[in-house]
Amino acid sequence: MKLFGKEHYITSFSAKNKPKFFVDLGETFQVETHDCYGGAFTNENQLRTSVSIDYINPATGPIYINDVKKGDILCIEVKNIELDSQGVMVLYPGMGTLGDKVKVEDTKIIPIVENTAYFSQHLQFQVQPMIGVIGVAPLNGEVLCESPGDHGGNMDTKYITSGNKLYLPVYHDGAYLALGDLHAAMGDGELDGSGIEIGGKVTLKVTRKEKQPLSLPIVETKESFMFIASEKTVEKASEKGMVAAVEAIQKKQSLTFNDAYRLLSALCDIQISQLVNPLVTIRINVPKYLLHN
Ligand code: CA
Ligand code: CA
Repeated sequence: MKLFGKEHYITSFSAKNKPKFFVDLGETFQVETHDCYGGAFTNENQLRTSVSIDYINPATGPIYINDVKKGDILCIEVKNIELDSQGVMVLYPGMGTLGDKVKVEDTKIIPIVENTAYFSQHLQFQVQPMIGVIGVAPLNGEVLCESPGDHGGNMDTKYITSGNKLYLPVYHDGAYLALGDLHAAMGDGELDGSGIEIGGKVTLKVTRKEKQPLSLPIVETKESFMFIASEKTVEKASEKGMVAAVEAIQKKQSLTFNDAYRLLSALCDIQISQLVNPLVTIRINVPKYLLHN
């Protein structure tokens, strides 16, 4: 199995980045990733405001996927996430959704041993590994790795994890896939502004659906399809996700808009992925049987 090392990373998603790795459709490969700070924090004496970090969320890549064409859908199967031996959570006044209540700046290193996070001597819990940043080159220009969008990016959606699939639109031949910003755990919302930030190795397999349009990222779990929408406000992101979900239900079930809208209301959940990035990210959770053939 090929291993793509973290020495090649991007700081923004763009088709102008030269591909560093190449992979075939159906091939299983491994990608090594930095944590969101590029590994800058190794001990608790280092504080966020005194450590200089030029960019956030370095994403390993770009990975050029042979035979994937503009206009396809890229299907990324997450097969495994192997975490490094420790994660970090920094805090400083102003950070996250309750930033005005943070009076003291501090850094917490959280050891990870055999899938257990050692938060303190008295509190340990099971890790829930996930990929914070994963995306392709956007249609136009460049998008910093700290932002989410229709191309993927910093979606911070905890269901992007082992056993699930992520579908992304392909805007350029080869797709230019890149990923990073793993979390050992992160709740919906990413409320203090970070997960347990950690590096690691991700095992992936990519396939494609030929010449099929996709307006935004979709995550497939065992039970549902999640329409991932990122916009400036929760309201705008919700509308975008709902429109995409209703359109998909309408098409698959050959329904009027009104009936598809009814099914959205009766059976689908709106959930928050993250509230702390330059755009917020929500998801509309549609039960699988509504979208199966
Ligand atoms: Ca993130
Ligand atoms: Ca992160």
